[in-house]
Amino acid sequence: MNRQDAPSRDGLARRWSPPPLLYASAAVHLGAAAAMLARPRAWPWALGALAANHAALAAAGLWPRSQLLGPNWIRLPAQDGAAAGVAITIDDGPDPDVTPQVLSQLAAHHALATFFCVGARVERYANLAREIVSRGHAIENHSQRHRHNFSLLGPGSMSVEISRAQESILRVTGSRPRFFRAPAGLRNPFLDPVLTRLQLRLASWTRRGFDTVNANADAVYRRLANPLQDGDILLLHDGNAARGRGGKPVILEVLPRLLDTLASKQLRPVTLRSAL
Ligand SMILES: [Zn+2]
Repeated sequence: MNRQDAPSRDGLARRWSPPPLLYASAAVHLGAAAAMLARPRAWPWALGALAANHAALAAAGLWPRSQLLGPNWIRLPAQDGAAAGVAITIDDGPDPDVTPQVLSQLAAHHALATFFCVGARVERYANLAREIVSRGHAIENHSQRHRHNFSLLGPGSMSVEISRAQESILRVTGSRPRFFRAPAGLRNPFLDPVLTRLQLRLASWTRRGFDTVNANADAVYRRLANPLQDGDILLLHDGNAARGRGGKPVILEVLPRLLDTLASKQLRPVTLRSAL
């Protein structure tokens, strides 16, 4: 069993500190309260300021690549002058039909990838999850059930979804996730304190192919590969994959092309955690 659950030595253990947007929100709330005490007839203005503030918080949570609610990897960090590589991330599996074919394609190109797996699916397809890790890929946390209302959950429910996936993945594979990606990339201000407590980093992406909704492999490839640069984080799906010609999951048409292009540009496919 591949055990990678030793405590991290990469400075991951950070303490939660509110991002600037939350300080600003607190100031808006205090300001609105003070204004209403001083001039009660100003209440429509105070209410308007609060509504605008909450709209800003919601917008930040609906924007997957936003850094406004806390740290969020949208590229690999620079590696002191060395090439960082490109991280292919594959979400929503494992899938008993698609994932084994993805693993074969990756092996044919000697490429490593990061799988953001759903905890309940890791339990259900435990052998497949172990196969992913035994081939040198990484499994990271994509919540236990991939709830579609994840971004509306409070801190307690959010913590349960993430910590249960953390336990499922560790129990099945022996490897503790180091990264979290929110279902559909959507979140709210409660997420960052939970991730800090569980010593997880939030990762989104540089570009995504929209391959759960777009069955056109050419279009998905162009979105991802245009232009490919060192440090990119790319998003594809082995679970919930759109089906193209003959019912073929889009990722199986896109991934070999992408891997060929990476090789031709001498960009090395790496796992996210290799950049820690
Ligand atoms: Zn997902």
